Order: sequence, then structure tokens, then C-alpha cells
Amino acid sequence: MAYIIDGKKISNEIKDELKEKVIAFKENGKEITLAVVQVGNDPASSVYVGNKKKACEYIGINSLSFELPKETTEVELINLVKELNQRNDVNGILVQLPLPKHINEDIIIQTISPEKDVDGFHPMSVGALSIGHKGFVSCTPSGVIELLKRSNIQIEGKECVIVGRSNIVGKPMAFLLLRENGTVTICHSKTTNLKEVTKRADILVVAIGKPKFITKEYIKEGAIVIDVGIHRDENNKLCGDVDYNDVVDHVSAITPVPGGVGPMTIAMLMNNCVVSAT
Ligand code: NDP
Repeated sequence: MAYIIDGKKISNEIKDELKEKVIAFKENGKEITLAVVQVGNDPASSVYVGNKKKACEYIGINSLSFELPKETTEVELINLVKELNQRNDVNGILVQLPLPKHINEDIIIQTISPEKDVDGFHPMSVGALSIGHKGFVSCTPSGVIELLKRSNIQIEGKECVIVGRSNIVGKPMAFLLLRENGTVTICHSKTTNLKEVTKRADILVVAIGKPKFITKEYIKEGAIVIDVGIHRDENNKLCGDVDYNDVVDHVSAITPVPGGVGPMTIAMLMNNCVVSAT
């Protein structure tokens, strides 16, 4: 029977540790403030933003909310981000993605000061990660590393295969696994013989964006499987990119959906907020 990696429990542990750090901060007269910017009222984005604000409240981080109408222009958003960059009372800036189509996300991300880039999406943050310098790291992949470490799963020397090469998950995931001395392979939609490559994995990280795509035919017996995907299945139940029921008796450890990687993303965002104030 597979070991079920409990992301909810681990994320709660991290949030409790952060809460202690914030208490110590406050005892020294310091505050931590995250500015959360949302443009438009996409329901999924509103849920994510709400969860982030709730986590801030739990940990003791102030959240400053900027809810802008969907007609907001790119220039107006740039001006707001620049103003937040200048404010000494704001430590971190989060612009919830996706943005309305008339706003160029890359330009907005590049406007955020790298010192306040708690999402870790700025090219300076990504570049720092790629050359092993300090900087903010994208929250989902850093959450995966925490899940592995806190589950006592060794990365060093392991064959690590990532399915997906997005800028926010696949690529930073590769750099982080490399930093932990894994042997890393990245697969994508043009990979030939995907099954042959994924079957080499001791640790398989799946961030493909296709519900229940990965079945046991893709996985070596006893491998560790991290499922980053989030979807609703045909019964409107949450599921991942991995067909959990098909693979669970075939693997040695697996993250469930929900309750695996998802809660870790917010915990690592909170960690980045605490780091932004130090
Ligand atoms: P993207 O759509 O940006 O990237 C998907 C990647 O999968 C691409 O690199 C694509 O390849 C690759 N891919 C698509 N089809 C195939 C295929 N048939 N074979 C091999 N590779 C393929 O997705 P994200 O990285 O943003 O997200 C991935 C999943 O993770 C989604 O389900 C998303 O909802 C979820 N997610 C969850 C988070 C959490 O907090 N738990 C946070 C972020 C994302 P190519 O580059 O060639 O197109």
C-alpha cells in the first residue's frame, strides 16, 4: 500500500512555524504586509485570492487588498505596481493571474520589484534560481520539494522525471530537483516515447494539465508520484493529472488531489512573504 503524502498536514505544520516567526517579528515591532492585486472577478481567482488572504490572517501577515475592475488598463496596473514597489510598508506584491487578455502578464510581472516578488515569477527570480543564487522561488515547485523533504524522501541521486515544462511549475521544478542533486529529465508534448521516459523515474512529478492522464503504464513499480494537476472530473470531483485509483497500489508514495500539492502552494507563498520582510 502506498504512503499517502499528506500535503494538508505538512502545509499546516509550515504555517504554524511561520506563525511563530511572525509573532517574534511583532515582538520586535516589525509587521509583514502582502499587497494582493486582483483585476476583474473571475470566480476561480476570487477563491484563490480569498484563500491567500485567509492564510495571511492565520499567520499574522497583513494583507492589503486591491480589487480592480476588469476594464483596468495595463498602464493603470503598471502604475499601481510601481506605487506598491515604492511603499516601505509593503513587503510582498502578488498580482493574481490570469489577467484580462488586454493586459500583458509578462510586462506586469517584470514591473514587480524582485525584492517583493513573492510569487517568484520575475525573470530576475527565475534567473537567480537557475544559477543557484538567492531569490524567490515559484511556490508550487518549492512546495513539492518541502513535501518530499518532510516525508523523508531522498532526492539526491534519484532519477527525477517531470512531465510539463511551464514557467511556473515544470522549469523551476527541474532547477529545484537539480539543486537537491537529483538526476533530472523534463518531458513535454513533443517528447517521444513518454512512457519509456516516465518509467525511468524514481520520483515522477506530473504537471501536464490533463485530468487522470498518467496511469500505471507510465510508472515504474514502487516510484514516488507527485501530482501537481487540479481538475474537476466528470462527477465534478477534484482530481489530478494522475489517475490516482489506477496507480495507488503500484507506487510507494503519492500525493492525493485534493490535499497534496495544492495546500503547499499557499504555505510556500506565506513563507516567501516572511522572507520578504527579513
Ligand atoms: P501548462 O498548461 O502551462 O503546461 C503543461 C505542460 O504539459 C506543458 O509543458 C506541455 O508541453 C505539457 N504537456 C501537455 N500535454 C502533454 C502530453 N500529452 N505529453 C507530455 N507533456 C504534455 O500547465 P501548468 O504547468 O501551469 O499546470 C499544470 C497542472 O498543474 C494544471 O492542471 C494546473 O491546474 C495545475 N497547477 C496546480 C497548482 C497547485 O497549486 N497545485 C499550481 C499551478 C498549476 P508543451 O510545453 O510542449 O506544450
